[in-house]
Amino acid sequence: MPGTPALELRSVRRTYGLGPSATVALDDVHLAVRPGRFVSLIGPSGCGKSTLLRLVAGLERPDHGDVRVHGVAPATACAAKMIGLVPQSPALLPWMSVLRNVTLPQKINPGAAGRRERIPGSSGRQTAPDAPYLRELLVKAGLGEVMHKLPAQLSGGMRQRVAIVRAFGLRPDVLVMDEPFSALDEFTRESLQNQLLALWDELKTTVLFVTHSVAEAVRLSDTVVVMAPGPGRIVETIEIELPRPRGERLLGERRFHEYEDLVRDRLRRAWHDGAA
Ligand code: ADP
Repeated sequence: MPGTPALELRSVRRTYGLGPSATVALDDVHLAVRPGRFVSLIGPSGCGKSTLLRLVAGLERPDHGDVRVHGVAPATACAAKMIGLVPQSPALLPWMSVLRNVTLPQKINPGAAGRRERIPGSSGRQTAPDAPYLRELLVKAGLGEVMHKLPAQLSGGMRQRVAIVRAFGLRPDVLVMDEPFSALDEFTRESLQNQLLALWDELKTTVLFVTHSVAEAVRLSDTVVVMAPGPGRIVETIEIELPRPRGERLLGERRFHEYEDLVRDRLRRAWHDGAA
């Protein structure tokens, strides 16, 4: 439906445990993300980033408030394969080639396309991509030479790239990424950011991305959401008004560093709030 946000959280509260020892992982969280936006969550450990991702992915439900993905409950969106997930480690099947790892999700759950068609807020990317399309995505992501190899024959950066192609290959309406580059060295990380931006630019998927890196958040995002703990909450939403495409040259520019300083300043405050 036109105007429906890709993601919407209203007055969301999530508590773990009961009584005086209960932890308020998220309190009074409001967030609306328009389709096609790239949004990063950043904040100190324990501020509720993973909880927020789990709520959006339909793995948990809030105690209070409402979470919607293209206007429907996350569980419904999940069943229709509207949500893709890239975890911290790539979780590839070790006995299958790169290509089979990427094409496998298309083959299972064939009913998802039909369910997706019936959801008016879905982007209408119902048609499951075919193998040639997925091969093309692998080539674009620099994996053309290794598509018949097993995951164990690849470097860590390449394996994570496969996981990203697999997630984009399902053409989800919303892609949830939980610190996908945290285990990689700086150089590999930058190269994966390039690949991710290229795929995102082409497919215009809505992305919700968790990171601890300020530079990564600024480079990738349209919006950086700064969170604080005790209770977990959103303290600031910063729009990154830098032009795209955001090539590596931008990383040396003053306006890029100004955004980095702004996010770092807000994070410092969030950290002090949590520690107070
Ligand atoms: P982040 O991802 O920002 O580090 P989390 O969402 O993991 O934060 O956690 C937010 C808070 O909720 C923390 O205080 C954490 O200890 C608590 N928490 C998260 N999951 C659980 C759980 N399953 N049971 C109890 N407490 C939890």
